[in-house]
Amino acid sequence: MNSLPGVEGRALGAYLGLACGDALGATVEFMTPAQIRAAHGVHLDIVGGGWLGLRPGQVTDDTEMSLALGQAIVDRGGWDLQAVAESFVSWLAGKPVDVGNTCYRGIRRYLTEGTLSSTPCEQEGGNGACMRNLPVALATLGRDQALISWSVDQCHITHNHHLSDAATVAMGRMVQILVAGGGRESCRPIADRLVADHPEFRFSPYPGRAGGYIVDTVQTVLNFFFATDDLESCIVETVNRGEDADTTGALAGMLAGACYGAEAIPRRWLDRLDPNCQRRIGDQVAGLLAVARGEC
Ligand SMILES: [Mg+2]
Repeated sequence: MNSLPGVEGRALGAYLGLACGDALGATVEFMTPAQIRAAHGVHLDIVGGGWLGLRPGQVTDDTEMSLALGQAIVDRGGWDLQAVAESFVSWLAGKPVDVGNTCYRGIRRYLTEGTLSSTPCEQEGGNGACMRNLPVALATLGRDQALISWSVDQCHITHNHHLSDAATVAMGRMVQILVAGGGRESCRPIADRLVADHPEFRFSPYPGRAGGYIVDTVQTVLNFFFATDDLESCIVETVNRGEDADTTGALAGMLAGACYGAEAIPRRWLDRLDPNCQRRIGDQVAGLLAVARGEC
């Protein structure tokens, strides 16, 4: 992989986009589009609140679990699944503002049984493994087999579901194409392939559900990523669908940030986004790209 400034700007854009989408969407999580219109008109500023009572700029488990995963990769200089699980344990011990049920169960199972994989389960088709996989995509840039194996390994700590696996790998491949400078249309074949392999994910025409089921989440994210042509529109239109808006916002922000770069993120969002979170993201992007370059 070449260490071009453009690659770093798009990698940073992906991570900051994820955090901004999380912080923006959390305000309207579990609301319907009609409820959002009534309360906010169009929701487009990071103001905190929501059902979690967040500070303006505070992120939730989507960003925090990504940071936990990324920190384990950077600290180990590569892949160590047990280190990832331990990092999730430390995060949970810090009493996070939110944790999904399946993530909680998976981390508890690791703690009590020591097992690094849950058994396949139809009930584990939530988006909680996909939402945190960005650090893997960055650390395996240009290495598809590593992307697949690291992604599936980390997913299975909490979610062992074939649609979660397929979506997580597809989103990771899209991020890699975008970070490498491929542009939006270059990653369209990855989305089309996901739909061809698993027709549940068909997102055009947009079915309209934006919930925590991996299929609903991915349909929403892909719909708005391909239907818009700038970062702010992509994230704003996504979170205004409500439901699991922090996670759809995070994943839409990840793709849009990887596509349009960190400079496309509105200044008013970065002025609000938690400074400590921004610092950790900057450090991790440098560390994860160093792993991808084999410098660790
Ligand atoms: Mg969340």
